[in-house]
Amino acid sequence: MKPVIALVGRPNVGKSTLFNRLTSSRDAIVADFAGLTRDRHYGNGKSGKQEYIVIDTGGFEPTAESGIYKEMAKQTRQAVAESDVVIFVVDARAGVNAQDHEIAKYLRRLGKPTVLVANKAEGMTQGLQLVEFFELGLGEVVPVSGAHGQGVRSMLDLALESI
Ligand code: GDP
Ligand code: MG
Repeated sequence: MKPVIALVGRPNVGKSTLFNRLTSSRDAIVADFAGLTRDRHYGNGKSGKQEYIVIDTGGFEPTAESGIYKEMAKQTRQAVAESDVVIFVVDARAGVNAQDHEIAKYLRRLGKPTVLVANKAEGMTQGLQLVEFFELGLGEVVPVSGAHGQGVRSMLDLALESI
């Protein structure tokens, strides 16, 4: 069975951009993995000989109680349940907000292997600006740029190693 990676985070942090970086073919895999539900976005990827599956998700508000946000939260919980490792994406430029804290709390409770990733980190002086992400309680943050590709390989290696 190929390892399954779920991309989780609030809207607009760059999950879909990372999904496109990490995958070459999309959705075709659904046929091979009957256990996976169709209404999330699946992709196939390969790093060297290691093949993997990535699940993209919509924005996640774990505490949403109605409407589209509740449905998105449900989809995300299912994606997380199907995955072997979670890549939790935050926005290096916007910094930590309440939604990030909610998601972090949910992931910490779950105890699934989780890699914390600060996207949009291109051109940023690392370290200082990323220190605030430690407060999410998920260990070290990996700076990446989905748009430019920096750090994506290290992020993927870390995710696959943490399973
Ligand atoms: P999602 O809602 O989490 O799936 O986020 P998207 O992948 O749709 O990206 C949201 C916005 O952030 C878009 O305007 C992207 O172009 C932008 N974006 C994504 N990745 C990066 C990045 O690495 N750097 C910068 N500067 N912008 C990015
Ligand atoms: Mg998206």
